[in-house]
Amino acid sequence: MHVAVLGAGVLGLSTALLAQQRGWTVSLYTDRLPLHTTSVKAGASFKPHAVGYTAHTRRLLEDSWTAFERVQAEAGAAAGVRKHVHWEASSAPRPRADYLSVMQQVRILERPEVPGGYAFGWRYVSFFIDMPVYLTWLMAQFEQNTGRVVVVNQPFTDLEQLAGLPAEIVFNCTGLGSRRLCHDQNLIPIKGQVVVVGPRPDMDWSINADGFYVYPRKTETLLGGTTERNIDTETVDNGALHLVIHGNKRILPGLELGDVRRAYAGLRPYREGGIRLEAEERNSRRIVHNYGHGGAGVTLSWGSARAALDCV
Ligand SMILES: Cc1cc2nc3c(=O)[nH]c(=O)nc-3n(C[C@H](O)[C@H](O)[C@H](O)COP(=O)(O)OP(=O)(O)OC[C@H]3O[C@@H](n4cnc5c(N)ncnc54)[C@H](O)[C@@H]3O)c2cc1C
Repeated sequence: MHVAVLGAGVLGLSTALLAQQRGWTVSLYTDRLPLHTTSVKAGASFKPHAVGYTAHTRRLLEDSWTAFERVQAEAGAAAGVRKHVHWEASSAPRPRADYLSVMQQVRILERPEVPGGYAFGWRYVSFFIDMPVYLTWLMAQFEQNTGRVVVVNQPFTDLEQLAGLPAEIVFNCTGLGSRRLCHDQNLIPIKGQVVVVGPRPDMDWSINADGFYVYPRKTETLLGGTTERNIDTETVDNGALHLVIHGNKRILPGLELGDVRRAYAGLRPYREGGIRLEAEERNSRRIVHNYGHGGAGVTLSWGSARAALDCV
């Protein structure tokens, strides 16, 4: 069977790879290559942030965990996937999240055991994914399996255009692009700004604390985070930059504006009512939608890709 996948973000690439594993011939159509997508801007820690959490999300999470275990075992550092200790700290107590049962070695702690002097903290082991490395690895896997990538000059603007693609099934993994493509009013951007500073070789753990985060990579450290609903521009905002530096000083006390190497912003594809994972028929062609993953697209990528294939 010939199938087409729209989108070269983490959802498109994961869906394309699983389709290849089913023995299908896959062509991937996109207006941006992986290192120019929203996906490359993710931190990325494995946890369901800014996404509707239901029993369905939970199944996607469990499926994804199993798949990331396999990626880590088979490719590990080459894929940019590792496990490490992650903290979620807060000044006020929070009810225990359901998703903690998917994480490993979970401990619920209080000051003074929580970093940064925070009053409460969840400490667990989870996946941590270096997105530029991971997307490059996914793309290489796809191309090695004889996957074909077509970069379109103009984004598709209407589902009717897909009738011309030489494929029996089309998987729509266009993230926020589906707002226009599917006229989906439920899809909204949630802007997140990231500040990049130098590496922290002393820090082999990451933390989210009262909305801020410190995510150390091998060659740099990502600091966040802001969550601005319905803001549609990726422009870096100076006020947000100051906020991120100030907010992370409890974890990195010596942090200064002069430490900033660069800053960028990305738009999380959040969907009111939850992720869209369903099939529709158009011109006797089946289109399977797989978009709207908010701040959890990396986390839920493999589970969503499998669920999309199950819609066929
Ligand atoms: C600052 C920030 C931090 C984040 N941190 C995390 C995290 O720690 N963990 C986590 O799990 N998630 C995180 N996320 C969320 C995650 O990045 C997204 O959920 C995920 O990248 C969505 O992937 P996607 O493949 O659906 O979309 P995208 O990465 O946006 O890919 C969409 C693809 O479709 C193509 N496309 C779009 N429209 C069209 C069209 N009309 N025609 C042709 N091609 C089209 C694009 O060019 C692109 O290739 C974060 C996001 C941000 C912004």
